[in-house]
Amino acid sequence: MSALPATGRAWHLVARPHGWPKAEDVALREVPVTEPAPGSVLVRNRYFSVDPYMRGRMNDVKSYIPPFRLDRPMEGSAVGEVIASAAEGIAVGDHVLHFLGWREYSEVPAAQAVKVDPELAPLSAYLGVLGMPGLTAYAGLFEVGAFKEGDAVFVSGAAGAVGSLVGQLARIKGASRVIGSAGSEAKVKLLTEEYGFDAAFNYKSGPVGELLREAAPDGIDLYFDNVGGDHLEAAITSLNDFGRAVICGMISLYNETENPPGPRNLPMIIGKRLRLEGLMVNDHQKLQPRFVQEVAGWIASGELRYDETVVEGIENGYDAFMGLMRGENTGKMVVSL
Ligand code: NDP
Repeated sequence: MSALPATGRAWHLVARPHGWPKAEDVALREVPVTEPAPGSVLVRNRYFSVDPYMRGRMNDVKSYIPPFRLDRPMEGSAVGEVIASAAEGIAVGDHVLHFLGWREYSEVPAAQAVKVDPELAPLSAYLGVLGMPGLTAYAGLFEVGAFKEGDAVFVSGAAGAVGSLVGQLARIKGASRVIGSAGSEAKVKLLTEEYGFDAAFNYKSGPVGELLREAAPDGIDLYFDNVGGDHLEAAITSLNDFGRAVICGMISLYNETENPPGPRNLPMIIGKRLRLEGLMVNDHQKLQPRFVQEVAGWIASGELRYDETVVEGIENGYDAFMGLMRGENTGKMVVSL
């Protein structure tokens, strides 16, 4: 076995951001690399994920997941190759998915490492289309959203990791109309020309309410919310009677220092008998096998497309995260190491 390096680099949170994070809030530091403790493996990471929810973990607030600790490496999904093992069942050369990302080398307890097969899918896919964002789309649409054939579906953040799958899954399962919103003309084109959306609009080109009304003149039955704010207000206005909204994310608010008031049209929920329901992907782990089987099948048949934006080099990891917040990604944003 070749000797382990003495150190590896890891992104640390060093200050809690107020509003949009700044470069000074994080630091890329050298940390020691050691032989794994009994029951653990040492992983040379190949990709780590940057995700919108990580912005919430930078704040010192009680949430469904604890805040990142200051002066400690940040965490998140990562995939890599086992280079030393002190655990039964995981060998050097195996590839694993785990939750100690944002660093080159991770010492991972075996119970927290899931073996993945790089022959079945590219390693990065386990962070995106076949991973947590993919399951979010699948569970949100089919379980929480109770999608049924013939529904007109609107999804915001539609060119992102979750949104691009939501729209395509709805199309594959027989939606009457699939509408998406995204933040550039290029993304809008991708939605209608490559992903098979019936209509799409650039939310930066006018009031979202008007753009949605034009794109969905007969209204919508199901809204998958990745954005919140004016998107949610517009969707409530366009939802038909007994419509549903899956509240998955509200990225338009994550870097705000004060939550804006609204949506202003909540009374419509009563008259239209709407149902708005929050989604937490971790509640739906039991769907994982069915999700992987179905989605992998649609990828193989060419019915479902996915994109990734790969940022090279751990030194660019934080820029990748900030780029995600600014919409520089198409599909899943990952960092390759
Ligand atoms: P994406 O790949 O969609 O990346 C984020 C995208 O958000 C950007 O590309 C950008 O695209 C868009 N965006 C940024 N700011 C705004 C804004 N002010 N208004 C509208 N769009 C904006 O990320 P994910 O697919 O990983 O996540 C999508 C959403 O799902 C997030 O809100 C996330 O928090 C949530 N989520 C929730 C989970 C749960 O269990 N509830 C699990 C996983 C994700 P554009 O160019 O179009 O602006």
